[in-house]
Order: sequence, then C-alpha cells, then structure tokens
Amino acid sequence: MTLKNNLRQYIDAGYPILYIDAYEEIKTDEIISSLNLEKGLIEWNAADGLVNFKNKTPLMETKMSLCEALAFLNSSGDIDNHLVVLKDAHTFLSSDDTDTVAIIKRICQRIINGQIDSTIIIVSPVISIPKEIEKYVTVFEMDPMLQDDICDHVREYLNAYDISVGEKLLNEIAIAFKGLTMYEIDTLLNLSLAENGEITQKDLKLIFEQKRQIIMKSNTLEMINVKEKITDIGGLDNLKKWLERKAAIFRDIDSAVQFGVDMPKGVLIAGIPGCGKSLAAKATSALFEVPLLKLDMGKIMGKYLGESETNMRKAIELAETISPCVLWVDELEKAFAGTDGSGHEVTMRLFATFLTWLQEKTSPVFVVATANDISKMPPELLRKGRFDDIFYVDLPNDNERKRIFEIHIRKRRPADLSGIDVSALVGKSSGYSGADIESVVVEAVEDAFANKQDGLKTDNVLKIINSTKSLSDIMGEKIKNLRKFYSESGNFKNAT
Ligand code: ATP
Repeated sequence: MTLKNNLRQYIDAGYPILYIDAYEEIKTDEIISSLNLEKGLIEWNAADGLVNFKNKTPLMETKMSLCEALAFLNSSGDIDNHLVVLKDAHTFLSSDDTDTVAIIKRICQRIINGQIDSTIIIVSPVISIPKEIEKYVTVFEMDPMLQDDICDHVREYLNAYDISVGEKLLNEIAIAFKGLTMYEIDTLLNLSLAENGEITQKDLKLIFEQKRQIIMKSNTLEMINVKEKITDIGGLDNLKKWLERKAAIFRDIDSAVQFGVDMPKGVLIAGIPGCGKSLAAKATSALFEVPLLKLDMGKIMGKYLGESETNMRKAIELAETISPCVLWVDELEKAFAGTDGSGHEVTMRLFATFLTWLQEKTSPVFVVATANDISKMPPELLRKGRFDDIFYVDLPNDNERKRIFEIHIRKRRPADLSGIDVSALVGKSSGYSGADIESVVVEAVEDAFANKQDGLKTDNVLKIINSTKSLSDIMGEKIKNLRKFYSESGNFKNAT
C-alpha cells in the first residue's frame, strides 16, 4: 500500500500519532495535502513555531516551543478536527523533556477516548520516540520512487544544470537508483556532479558504491565477503548440481528470461546442524558471481508499531536495488519463530510480507534460506511457488565424509594428504557432521605440530576422533527426530 493510502486509513481509524520516517518534507507536504481530508492542517516547525501548513506563515506573533504549541492547541480546543504536522520534532522528543512528553500523552489519550478528532503527524529523518508514548506511534516510510518517476526526476534535475544525457544512460541510472528515496537520489546526483560537473557512465560505479554504503549503514542487511567456493563443499552433489544449473540461468538472466525461463526465486536448505548449509549459501554467491547479502532478522524486529514491517520492506528493497545478488536468510525457523500460530502478531505479519514478496518476486534476488528444524513452520512456506525447491541436508554418508576429510586436510596440509589413510578415518567417524570433521582435522594438525612431527599422520587424526564426541553423540535424540521428520515427510529433495 502506498504511504498516502496508509495515512488515510490510519487517520480514519483514529491512530493518534503517525510517524513518517523521511527527509523529503516537500514531498511529504504534497502527500499530506493530497489526502484532501475535511480537517484543518496546522504545522509546527523549529524555525517558526506554529505556522499555516499551506503557506508556512507564522500563526503567532511570538514563536512557541513544541511543548508550548501543543499545550496551546490542546487547551484552546484548536486541535479538534485538525491534523497537526510536526517537523524537526525528533530533537525535542526525549523522555527527559517530561513536559513535552506529558502533553503529547494527554493529547493521545483524548484522541483515543474520542474527546477530540485529531491526528499528530511527525515528519522526521530520525526515529526518536520516548518510551512513554511508544504505544501511540505508528511508523511509516516514504514510497520508493518508480523507475519512470526516477527518470523524470533525474531529467529535471539535470536540465536545471543544463546537462543532458542520452536515454540509454538515463535508464541505466534510473535502474541503479531504484529503491532509493528522492533525498538519497538527490544526494547521489549532487555527489556525482561535484566530482566532475557531468554525469557519465562512470557515475554508475559511484551509485553502486554509495548503495553499498547504504547497505552497511542499514543494519538489517550485511554484505558478506565470500571466500568459499562450491568445490569447498564435500558431498551434497544433488544440491550442487541444482545450484550449478540455476547459476547458468542467473549468469545469463536476460537471455534466459527472454527464452521463457522463470526468474529463479531461491532455495530453502534445511537439515542437520553443521552439515554445510551456511557453506552452501556462501558458495552460491561465488558460483552465481554476485554479492551475498545476509538478512539479520534480529535487527529487523523493531520496537515501534509498524517499524518491523518497515525494516523488512526496506531490507527487501535494498536487496532488490543491489540485485543481482544472493539474499541469505539464516536460521529461518528462529527468524519467524511462532508463525505456527502461537506467535506474535508482528512476526506473523513479517512472515506474510516475506512470503508474498517471495511469491511475487521478479527481481534477480536469489534467496537462500537455511534452517535446522522447519517441522514447526507453517505449511504455506513449503508450498510450491515460494522457493524453487527445498533440500534436506543429512549427516554425511561414508563417501561424503571421505571428501570432507580430504577438503579440510588439503586446505591445511596439502602435501600430507596422499600419505593419509582417509578410509580409516571414514570408518571411525560415522555420525560426524561436516563441522565435527573440520574440528577434528584442525585439532589433529595442531597435535602434529605440538609433537614436532614433520607432517600430519593418520594416527594424529584417529587419536582426535577417539577422544571426540560427535554431533550424533551429543544431540542423539534431537538428531534422530530431525532425520525422521525430513526423510519421512516426502516434501524435500535429498541434498546428497
Ligand atoms: P548450522 O545449522 O549449525 O548453522 P550449517 O549446516 O550451516 O550449520 P556450516 O556452517 O555450513 O553448517 O558448517 C560449519 C563448518 O563445517 C563449515 O564452515 C565447513 O568448514 C564445515 N563443513 C560442514 N559441512 C561441510 C561439507 N559438506 N563440506 C565441507 N565442509 C563442511
């Protein structure tokens, strides 16, 4: 839903404070004016105090502070049947300012009790809400600009500087700007012009670099530096083959789509801990030759009403602006804990937002979701049309353990591998996860070094295996239940 529709709906429903997280005051003024409500509009800003919303002329001879202005509007009754738009308010909104908080609380209670018909709209680039009034606040964000609007906006901006660019470059710039707000776009245009007084192909690089910066500041997305390759995964041949096929499509996406191939959506990789799910997510990004973004669900969850959904939408939009990319959602079951019906309403809504996006997604954002236990996740997640496929990762079989031992020994002691009896290690490591095998190799190499040996020997590794408890030993019952669930469900492809 657009910001305008959201505002209208929440105003009609009597929500007391609507907080628009935005820099663009001119744009938010336009949106608020376009609501055409049968209510008056009053604005307060730090420069002039109370002003006429339309022409910004001061309404009072002396400038009132935020607290004075609200107290005046409340006691005079002028607040009734009005929208009160507050600008620059974030610097004055703190729990320390008890008078301001108290008057806002009073107004909110009067709105909720139906004593006055009014809404406070706060427009601010910084979300700052004192705890005492959190429950009255709903947070909104600006609508990201559509590609055509971005084109018009950039053209207008450049015309003002007597600069013209070809349609092709203009379109490329508009695509690169997608997902950004008008403020962010203008900032980047200013920056590009300041560099050399013109906009050229080279500036696209600057735009992408700035987008990276935005991601780094965004908190909800992390850009992961990937060293892992698909050949670093021992076993999981089915999954690797499947990923290779998708990679071939992804690397030549325009021709593939033109041919009629559907845009790849993503994959859910579920199963036993420590068996290469995260490794596969990272290797996917290397294989697809695109950046890896990790979605941090902990940071998506916000304190304020509407904030979590806003964060989720922003993260998705940012990922789309960076696309083509791989978006890794780790520990999916924790991210959406409680969506089996026992959960919090916010989590349910977030989950719905995520699923709808996944279902309707046409952008080249390839989602890799990883999870240990999805037995309690709602069935709609597993329905066709969400992920392209769902894979189950089991404990590695003999052949896979052999390859995992080889990978980790080769990584650390390449020259010693040929002298090691890997089959003997395989025979002694049934029930070990990939992570168990890696840690055995790490310790064995350390052991060989401590013994002043000239290389790693089979005995070093066997000794560590004998003194190590495997994942299956430690989490016996849980692993047994997980394996039973995945193998009996029939919904999942075996990654092996
Ligand atoms: P969790 O569910 O606990 O997050 P996971 O399945 O994501 O576990 P990884 O993080 O991929 O497990 O594995 C941990 C480490 O174990 C990897 O970094 C890798 O070094 C090693 N490992 C696990 N599985 C394999 C494998 N199949 N091949 C090679 N190394 C592996």
